[in-house]
Amino acid sequence: MSVSETVLSSSISLPSTSGGFGDFELHPTLERGIRAAGFEEPRPIQKDTIPAALNGADVLGLAQTGTGKTAAFALPLLDQLLDENLPGPRALVLAPTRELATQIEAEIRTLAQFTRLKTVTIFGGVPARGQIATLRRRPEIVVGCPGRVLDLLQQGALRLGDIETLVLDEADHMFDMGFLPDIRRILSALPKKRQNLLFSATMPKEIRRLADDILSQPHVAELGHSAPAETIEHALYPVPEKRKRDLLEHVLAEERCDSAIVFTRTKHRARRLADQLSKAGHRAVGLQGNMSQSQRERAMKGFRSRRFDVLVATDIAARGIDVSGVSHVINYDVPNTPEAYTHRIGRTGRAEREGKACTFVTGEDRAWVRATERMIGAPIPRCQVSGFEGESIEADGSRRPGPKSASRNGSSSRARSGRRPSSRDGGSRRRAR
Ligand code: AMP
Repeated sequence: MSVSETVLSSSISLPSTSGGFGDFELHPTLERGIRAAGFEEPRPIQKDTIPAALNGADVLGLAQTGTGKTAAFALPLLDQLLDENLPGPRALVLAPTRELATQIEAEIRTLAQFTRLKTVTIFGGVPARGQIATLRRRPEIVVGCPGRVLDLLQQGALRLGDIETLVLDEADHMFDMGFLPDIRRILSALPKKRQNLLFSATMPKEIRRLADDILSQPHVAELGHSAPAETIEHALYPVPEKRKRDLLEHVLAEERCDSAIVFTRTKHRARRLADQLSKAGHRAVGLQGNMSQSQRERAMKGFRSRRFDVLVATDIAARGIDVSGVSHVINYDVPNTPEAYTHRIGRTGRAEREGKACTFVTGEDRAWVRATERMIGAPIPRCQVSGFEGESIEADGSRRPGPKSASRNGSSSRARSGRRPSSRDGGSRRRAR
């Protein structure tokens, strides 16, 4: 860092008022990055995990996308890398999808924009040549998907012998997508002595086992216990299967959806529904696994720039996408698991903005509704739309015929799930600062 930069940075140091970013006493260049990112106050997950990670402790963060978890691991990691000027890679961040990896890299670049630190993102589906060339410049931070990381490791293009910090992001999705064997192989190439930060929205037993294996006396930060963010208003829309499309058109029109993500169960349904909506005059685009990387990027770019206002996606394709200002998430089909529900609806109501999630449910979805309400710990309000009524699904799972002519009640039945923050400090390894 140059002398003039030091003076400039320290003169705009964040105030150390209690509860603010200033409390973390991060490098002044990072404080500038935080300002440039427009972050005013740390999020609960950041308040909880940053001090422990700065102390060198391993961290287990139970938090879903949208809570600010990326900065929660990125800031301590960057701060640590700034302590010494050594060639990289010194930090490895593993993410399940290229979309998430790209997003993490973008956030790191924003926060680190006033530092000397370099980042590379490596994922499959594109030629490796460019990634290998960037690796030769010894960037301090590698963000990557397990498959390509392992490939480059086996080719000798990526060396992991100097890694000081490992981050596993969306670990539950890594497991869903079958990456755990790759991850274990990558782990065996890392130095034994390192800091580990593991983030996951849910803790299936395989992830618990992985966490037990790699984390040493971790600081555990648990946010919201899989509850949706408080800024999301959500409701169930009982509807017969064959009326779903008409109800979707109705909701899109009635709800003034500026920017909506519609989730379907299969790639085929996503493609067909996007086509049908486009033919009906909507600015809709599909995002599903059968599309090429460039088609996916075009779809995402169009949705981000508001050229499209409806994105019809499957869970896998939409994993990790971060688009600010999504006003609505519409679950055309319910997701496979209750946990996936909070993931999906977490695409709206981000950055503490208001969002709305509408979930279409048929009589077949009764068991899913019960399991989801049990997980959230509260009933989800029902919204019977006149003319589209489906079978009522009571919170206790009993079946009742739908009302003959019910009124729309979604706007009056606002459900906001409270967060239950709790933390447990399992001890930390103090880091010399
Ligand atoms: P994440 O959970 O990391 O995907 O973060 C969700 C969004 O919140 C991203 O767009 C971040 O840039 C943003 N964000 C993270 N931390 C803060 C903060 N302290 N204040 C405002 N926005 C934030």
